[in-house]
Amino acid sequence: MKRILLKLSGEALAGAKKTGFDEETVIAVSRQIRTIAEEGTQVGIVIGGGNFWRGRTSETINRNKADQIGMLATVMNCIYVSDICRYLGLETEIFTPFVCGAFTKLYSKDTVEEAFKAGKILFFAGGTGHPYFSTDTATVLRAVEIEAEAILLAKAVDGIYDSDPKVNPEAVKYDEISIEEVVDKKLAAMDLTASIMCLEQKMPMLVFGLEEENSIVNAVHGKFSGTK
Ligand code: UDP
Repeated sequence: MKRILLKLSGEALAGAKKTGFDEETVIAVSRQIRTIAEEGTQVGIVIGGGNFWRGRTSETINRNKADQIGMLATVMNCIYVSDICRYLGLETEIFTPFVCGAFTKLYSKDTVEEAFKAGKILFFAGGTGHPYFSTDTATVLRAVEIEAEAILLAKAVDGIYDSDPKVNPEAVKYDEISIEEVVDKKLAAMDLTASIMCLEQKMPMLVFGLEEENSIVNAVHGKFSGTK
């Protein structure tokens, strides 16, 4: 694959702790990123924020503000993973859709292309920059904008199932499924806004488990046991 958009959920960075960062987990993920980058794949990365915060409304906090905190959580995650990638010898750049002072660069298609040309791993932090969206939607948006060959969705669950495998032990995993079917059956791969955009833009997606050894590299190599 020439260019991919890798989506990591925030929780995936936390390992067994489920919150904050687990360094060992992030180093293992970053090593896989280095392998595919060294093989010539250009890598853009979106990271969720669930290990710190998920937008929520309450009596005391407005949804808009809660979502701003969520977006900033994704910036913290990108700074962390980007720096671990640097520790492993990679060059990186973090882009946000809003100004974050000297911490990140403001997203623009031209600057992104320059950074890819310079051989950098790119992080798209801050989601879409708007409340009421998710990092899934930001993933599809950035994948389409950077003309990625596919989205690689690395999740806690190892593919798309016909029902929640954590609740239903009889749940069956799909090897292949169309986005139309994902939308029709309201399957929990991505949120609906993101799925519809994937459908409209005909963006291919590979869904697999991050916990499986070498799963990111295997997905790029086509040795794949998740859902296409
Ligand atoms: N968020 C947002 N707009 C975006 C992307 C994210 O408001 O475009 C906020 C929202 O509050 C969300 C939080 O950031 O709950 C964390 O993102 P997400 O839940 O997608 O992270 P994940 O579940 O993948 O870790």
